[in-house]
Amino acid sequence: MESIVRVRFAPSPTGPVHAGNIRTAVFNWLFARNLRGKFVLRMEDTDPERSRKEYAENIMSVLEWLGLDWDEGPVFQSQRTEIYNEVIDRLYEKGAVYPCFCSEGQLVSDRKEAERKHRPPVYVGRCRFIDRDEARERCESEPHAMRFAFESEELEYHDAVRGSVIVDIGLMGDFIVRRSNGMVTYNLAAAVDDAEMEITHVIRGEDHISNSPKQIMIMKALGYRPPIYAHLPLIHMSGGGKLSKRDPFASIDDLRKSGFLPAAVVNFLALIGWSPEDKREDMEIEELVEKFSLERVALRSATYDLGKLRWLNKTKIKREEPQSLLAMSKPFAGRSLNNLENLPEERQLVLVSIIRDNLGTLADVEDEMKPFFEYSLEDITGVSEYPAREVAEAFLPLCESEDFKAVCGEVSGKTGAKGKNLYMPIRAGLTGRFHGPELGKIYSWFAPEERKARIKTFLEHI
Ligand code: GLU
Repeated sequence: MESIVRVRFAPSPTGPVHAGNIRTAVFNWLFARNLRGKFVLRMEDTDPERSRKEYAENIMSVLEWLGLDWDEGPVFQSQRTEIYNEVIDRLYEKGAVYPCFCSEGQLVSDRKEAERKHRPPVYVGRCRFIDRDEARERCESEPHAMRFAFESEELEYHDAVRGSVIVDIGLMGDFIVRRSNGMVTYNLAAAVDDAEMEITHVIRGEDHISNSPKQIMIMKALGYRPPIYAHLPLIHMSGGGKLSKRDPFASIDDLRKSGFLPAAVVNFLALIGWSPEDKREDMEIEELVEKFSLERVALRSATYDLGKLRWLNKTKIKREEPQSLLAMSKPFAGRSLNNLENLPEERQLVLVSIIRDNLGTLADVEDEMKPFFEYSLEDITGVSEYPAREVAEAFLPLCESEDFKAVCGEVSGKTGAKGKNLYMPIRAGLTGRFHGPELGKIYSWFAPEERKARIKTFLEHI
């Protein structure tokens, strides 16, 4: 029987969660759901200075908002220090790690020396050959880090995206698994956890590519079989340049506050470095799950194209049922919220369906709703380009009728106005704007008295 797929999302809660992290989460989650495997959440919070509880909470709330549910965890690495230290002891007994007493000053001058001699800036191995008994004794009184002792020259491993990867260990040097302050390093903790949590596939950003050989070596030294690795291409902004944490809209919280739908964000992130065989872009979550595979992850760098996100968002809003759109819209209704909630529910649903096609993001809700509740003529500069007075005067006595088409036909017959000359004055008269939802729907929304009152005000104003 084939073993069940187990993947993990292992963020460091050291800042507000950004799109690069969550893209990794999306890929892991899609992979797990596609293969009916397990998705584990692990907080890599071993650095007490930079890790914060609120960042971990932020990560979880973003995952929940996006619907990326996890099957196990969150596991906090900060609570596993004892386990890591035991592992380091085990590695020490096997001779796979050794204490290093070099001072920071020594290491800096080693690096300078290496630079002068055009050698890779890796640890020179000074402490590796200290006699074991002497080292044990010195450990009692001297501050020391623990380093991993590389045995081989070369390492080959399989990357699900890149195929076979050969690493020159000589360029890496014996690396630290525990600092002299007692803090275990990311590579040690990640390797131990991936092995103990029986992770089968490590899917993460390309920036971790140089860590994989170290983690594989640690696992091998402990007698574990390493997982399959898959490194995702780096993300670039569409204008060029790497996506940085500081880019506007790189923060998932900003996307949420700006009125993007979770389904659009997941769809968008899934397409950064992956595409289905049929090249479809607008997909429901179920479709993404069904189609996702690591084989179709791209090798070249992927683009963070906000234009695509906006398009996906608008497209999904258009497909949203009025009931769910209404629920999503309320937090964005701002000053229109009171008026909206004073309407019977049925009317609220009609209103969201009227404005639905005009929403790029939910942040547009407040402004799109405004003309339905308030009448202002501040925004109609340019009205004189149209035969506004003639049209409005002809429209006024007719607008009691519910048959908008017939009313327009009659107004057009009387005034000779057609197309924009006919519709712009009616639109501006009813809403105080030149743009907005379908005019027929706006007309039917208002009661005849409201239509009349607005057109009268309009006539007084122009
Ligand atoms: N904690 C690491 C990070 O947030 C991820 C490590 C990993 O996926 O192995 O970049």
